[in-house]
Amino acid sequence: KAAHATQRTLVSLSSSGQDDGEKLINLDHGDPTMYESYWQQMGEKTTVVIPGWQSMSYFSDVKNPCWFLEPEFAKQVVRLHNLVGNAVTEGRQIVVGTGSSQLFLAALYALAPKDASEPISVISAAPFYSSYPSMTDYLKSGLYKWAGDARSFDKEGPYIELVTSPNNPDGFVRHSMVNRTGGILVHDLAYYWPQYTPISSAADHDLTLFTVSKATGHAGTRIGWALVKDPEVAKKMIKFIELSTIGVSRDSQLRAARILEVIINSSQNPGGPESGESFFKISYHFMAERWQLLREAVNKGRFFSLPDFQQGFCQFLNQVSQPQPAFAWLKCEDEGVEDCESLLRGHKILTRGGRSFGVGPKYVRVSMLDRDHNFNLFLKRLASIQT
Ligand code: PMP
Repeated sequence: KAAHATQRTLVSLSSSGQDDGEKLINLDHGDPTMYESYWQQMGEKTTVVIPGWQSMSYFSDVKNPCWFLEPEFAKQVVRLHNLVGNAVTEGRQIVVGTGSSQLFLAALYALAPKDASEPISVISAAPFYSSYPSMTDYLKSGLYKWAGDARSFDKEGPYIELVTSPNNPDGFVRHSMVNRTGGILVHDLAYYWPQYTPISSAADHDLTLFTVSKATGHAGTRIGWALVKDPEVAKKMIKFIELSTIGVSRDSQLRAARILEVIINSSQNPGGPESGESFFKISYHFMAERWQLLREAVNKGRFFSLPDFQQGFCQFLNQVSQPQPAFAWLKCEDEGVEDCESLLRGHKILTRGGRSFGVGPKYVRVSMLDRDHNFNLFLKRLASIQT
């Protein structure tokens, strides 16, 4: 049923007959607007009304070390992880942040030794998420410093390794690459949700980051959360958020809590009059269809190639499922093309070139989460480049 609904949307939009030849398609950012259609169908179920007198205080929960964490948001985070089975929450402090971006900075602050003679190295295996280097270095902190590709990192001493799994930009499941004593790991699991990758086990790391941006598509709500094992590390992250923004929007947390509750209900009682279609199942089918169409378009010629993934058993969907990342990591195979980003820009498709991710310009990252109409235009243009 879900697959059927998905198909209907794509077909109706691709046959709309609009002439969009001149339109610039921006697939540079991972803006998750694809999910709007699901939430439109959910109608009033997710509407949150906040009267003027509510959530006025700075404080959400003075008994919680994370005093700006809304109890209702924390409750839904635990319920969601228990349902999906993608992370252990027991024995963890939940720290909420203004997106997982703020929590990334909070983690660097909390994990960097305060009395070291030089900044701790921050590394990640290339291709790495393009924001890591700039977010690490833009304030020229004395505590931490970007040190590049984890694969070639050979400096003695402590380091912080960022492990993004599935990875942005290429979609592969990842583990730590360096594995040395003195290493501190931060797991960025923004994409560890059933629509993107098989859920093989519950993540059980020291410090894990999640975000609603990629889980439900509500990037503009700016809510992320960290699951932190060591209470002392959590305390420092909380301090960082206190110092930078005196907490996190309570209104946003309440909205996020409601959205999480709705996707939990949709999974527990799919198709029910109160709950609607299962969010993760529909999204899985959306992504499956997009990846199928993209692979068909790419395989029509020899100009481009895409990574190949191994399927796996998804504990949540209770079936074998395919990795179908939020980004396509497209490679220009044509020997005459040095810079794939420029080539696509010439066809009015904006993407992000490989250099931003620590690799060469033959690669580009393309968002798979734009609205149907733009995605279909992208496929059309890809086909025309290859003919
Ligand atoms: N980590 C990764 C790997 C991401 O791709 C993104 C979003 N592009 C983020 C973190 C930041 O997400 P947020 O919107 O929660 O700040």
